[in-house]
Amino acid sequence: MRAACWNGKRTIEVQDVPDPKILNSRDAIVRITSTAICGSDLHLYNGFIPTMEKGDIIGHEFMGEVVEVGHSVDNLKVGDRVVVPFPIACGNCWSCRQELYSLCENSNPNAWMAAKLMGHSPAGIFGYSHMMGGYAGGQAQYARVPFADVGPLKVPEGLSDEQVLFLSDIFPTGYMGAEMCDIRPGDVIAVWGCGPVGQFAIASAYLLGAERVIAIDRFPYRLQMAREKAGAETINYEQADVYDTLMEMTGGRGPDACIDAVGMEAHTPGVVGAYDRAKQALMLETDRPIALREAIMACRNGGTVSVIGVYGGFIDKFPMGSVMNRSLTIKSGQAHVQRYMRPLLERIENGEIDPSFVITHRMRLEDAPRGYEMFVNKEDNCEKVVLKP
Ligand SMILES: [Zn+2]
Ligand SMILES: [Zn+2]
Repeated sequence: MRAACWNGKRTIEVQDVPDPKILNSRDAIVRITSTAICGSDLHLYNGFIPTMEKGDIIGHEFMGEVVEVGHSVDNLKVGDRVVVPFPIACGNCWSCRQELYSLCENSNPNAWMAAKLMGHSPAGIFGYSHMMGGYAGGQAQYARVPFADVGPLKVPEGLSDEQVLFLSDIFPTGYMGAEMCDIRPGDVIAVWGCGPVGQFAIASAYLLGAERVIAIDRFPYRLQMAREKAGAETINYEQADVYDTLMEMTGGRGPDACIDAVGMEAHTPGVVGAYDRAKQALMLETDRPIALREAIMACRNGGTVSVIGVYGGFIDKFPMGSVMNRSLTIKSGQAHVQRYMRPLLERIENGEIDPSFVITHRMRLEDAPRGYEMFVNKEDNCEKVVLKP
């Protein structure tokens, strides 16, 4: 089959690889009909995620048709159309039984690698380094889906691939980011980052009852999407001081909750940004936590900071004094996607949201290298690329 492979920093190549096979009785093989490039794939692309190996098949947002099932998979049959969640979860372990699917204790065969960096290991993830399990990803014609009796969601007829594909990651991720804010009527939520996850965090904050959502980015087309499609008020951080503007917009109190949908490769003008870029380049810190620092400082006393942007390792100059003295709550996590797929599918079926609004580019799988290049350089107002194998 053909698959998009990581062949080094900023080198994605579509090449011939062996077809996946059923290895365990709970596996299924899915023929992929739609797959997407995620903002977190750009961290792989830019070489910030350790334990990638040449030839690794990438991609963790995919859907398609079941073409083969192992003998223990009794809820799916050949021909079913499914969306596959990005965390791989067994459904039986302690974490899975708490619905903490992205922390499954049985799906990462390389858990020791992740535990070395993080203390304990999270779940395995499709196409996201050997530290995260070394699973082949879904930017390919076919994928092996482990624990297929737990993860994949059958898609009802009448919904297009583009309407449901993002149940694999970015819609549940944005939704969980908003849910962690414990939104109450009248709340003002600020969202750092208007990439696809940020857009879904904004839309989800409204679904959960926020009164106002204020979105922060530097790309005019992303801010425009946040205003026109997701309904946010916006701040361009290259044109205005984010902290001062947020205080003005919230009567000096600060937002009730702040969502970091940026993560480890944040940008900022000025001295602090240069400091982080230099330290990251010298490997003195692995991540640039600019959005996170700003979110903490801006959040109102007693508020919540919800972190859904991806971090890989260690950060510097973390304003713990602000967190502790002002009674802030920090919540975070890779999305427990399996928990959200059904309720969010219902919202799509009810017409409350059409997730396809974030798609700006549709390409063939063969054009994946170009898709990565456009996405990373924000060429042609690229917000979200969907690939068709
Ligand atoms: Zn993703
Ligand atoms: Zn589990």
